[in-house]
Amino acid sequence: MICPYCSRTMESGSIQSRGTIRWFSDKTLRIEWRPQASAKDGITIASCGAGPFAYALEPSFYCPECQMVMIKKEDGD
Ligand SMILES: [Zn+2]
Repeated sequence: MICPYCSRTMESGSIQSRGTIRWFSDKTLRIEWRPQASAKDGITIASCGAGPFAYALEPSFYCPECQMVMIKKEDGD
């Protein structure tokens, strides 16, 4: 993927978490203490499964020059 800001090639990788990764349109804190908690609002980027070894993972790209991460949200909601 080409960085839309500097046009350099972005590094391929992934975003990983022990809980669901979700995007919100404001900065109101919405921490989920249970990884399997269902979405109340926001856009789910990567869902976390259930159980003690559950995790969320979504492929993404990183530009070290701009320090920007590009990620396409998972299919679904
Ligand atoms: Zn860049």
